[in-house]
Amino acid sequence: MRYQPVIGLEIHAELLTESKVFCTCRNEFGGSENTRVCPRCSGLPGTLPLLNMGAVRLAAKAGFATDCTVHNYSSFDRKNYFYPDLPKAYQITQFENPICTDGHITVTGNKKIRINRIHIEEDAGKLVHDDYEGISMADYNRCGVPLIEIVTEPDFRSVEEVQDFVEQIALRLKYAGVCDARMEQGSMRVDVNISIMPEGSTVFGTRAELKNLNSLKAIGRAIEYEINRQSEILDNGGTVVQETRRYNDNHGDTKALRSKEEAHDYRYFPEPDIPPVLLSDEDMAAIRESMPEMPQMRFKRYTEKYGLPDDDSRLIISNKEFSDFYDETVKINPDYKQVSNMMLVELMRHLNESEKTVPKLPFTPDDLAKLVKMSTDGVVSKNAAKDILKIMFDNGGSPMDIAEKNGFIMSNDTSGLEEIIDRVLEENLDSVESYKNGNAKIFGFIMGQVIRAAGKGANPKLAKDLLTEKLK
Ligand code: ADP
Ligand code: ZN
Ligand code: MG
Repeated sequence: MRYQPVIGLEIHAELLTESKVFCTCRNEFGGSENTRVCPRCSGLPGTLPLLNMGAVRLAAKAGFATDCTVHNYSSFDRKNYFYPDLPKAYQITQFENPICTDGHITVTGNKKIRINRIHIEEDAGKLVHDDYEGISMADYNRCGVPLIEIVTEPDFRSVEEVQDFVEQIALRLKYAGVCDARMEQGSMRVDVNISIMPEGSTVFGTRAELKNLNSLKAIGRAIEYEINRQSEILDNGGTVVQETRRYNDNHGDTKALRSKEEAHDYRYFPEPDIPPVLLSDEDMAAIRESMPEMPQMRFKRYTEKYGLPDDDSRLIISNKEFSDFYDETVKINPDYKQVSNMMLVELMRHLNESEKTVPKLPFTPDDLAKLVKMSTDGVVSKNAAKDILKIMFDNGGSPMDIAEKNGFIMSNDTSGLEEIIDRVLEENLDSVESYKNGNAKIFGFIMGQVIRAAGKGANPKLAKDLLTEKLK
């Protein structure tokens, strides 16, 4: 039988606050184990949580970034469970009254995915397993790191929709400064709930929840595996059981972790130590005010106002700092297409080939704006402009200075160029002969010799015209 997958996501994202959510320990990634812990985040008796309002504001921003309703009133609950990575034996989360509800994101062009809720909670610690020694160790640095959990409705019907959603969420959270969304580092973690139903049916099947997915590729592979696994069960007359499964990227398969019967009874109750969160309308307006332009708006601006192709626009916005640099540059030189070309082709390549990142570039948008103008005005040739960019990328400097120092300024000195061409032709009699005997392809070679002899300052068009003339 043919089946239709039905998928819903639960996404955890670590918030970019300075400190943890209920204490003043620093919130950062890495470092030595158990160096960022205190009595509060390790749950010692007698300590009280103190809510970090910065985390609340970031959660609200996540809501605005995904068209949610952000609530003036929200509150915290205790979720009780025992596990060695959780010294308090409960997690403070928002259960009854989450801060954001009813959002949505449009994927693959026109499919609306509803977001049920976004709530704030604290992260647990991390267990480090040493299989060789046969022991597990607990690192509590992550305990109390602020998280949001984004829960979607089961609206996805394909891997493509899921991947597009995850990419868009990551990008929006990055733009809004909510989360750095590094899936490989675990600062954004995606759980996939998936069931299948016969094609054409409207009755959802029983779902499995897939954990441990840390890349878009893993998400795709895990979903495909799960669709096959569940289809086989149904085709053989069996029933899918509701359970949590762990995805193993090395094997590309999923294994049962725990079934619904083994699922925890969390015994939620309102958190007695934290008063409800109240955001006034003024608070709300201020948070909204502080939101930067979101990537989907930028995409619209690039494609509709600047006339850039969809793919180019998508590539630019995929890195906020790169996109900010583009925006600053076209403010100075509104040659949208040429700036985009220079950045996407040349600059992007240099960035990919080096350790440098956009904030570490040794030149400014103003320098780049000038370089593009020098190229379009014919002050330097297109090739020279590329060389200048490389020099700027490596060492900084103003494009005009670099052009002058290196003799890149395009010269329109016809007689000088003619002399050079004559010399080149004399030195390449064989090639000239071959060209005259009908080998048209060798023109490029001769032209290359001319440019090499004339230097980067030669006007390539002029050189080509003169050479053509001389070869007649
Ligand atoms: P629970 O209350 O058991 O946690 P929820 O309704 O909160 O269940 O759903 C949890 C996640 O599972 C959500 O992302 C939701 O979209 C998804 N989901 C719910 N039902 C299904 C289903 N039949 N198939 C696939 N995903 C589902
Ligand atoms: Zn602490
Ligand atoms: Mg749920």
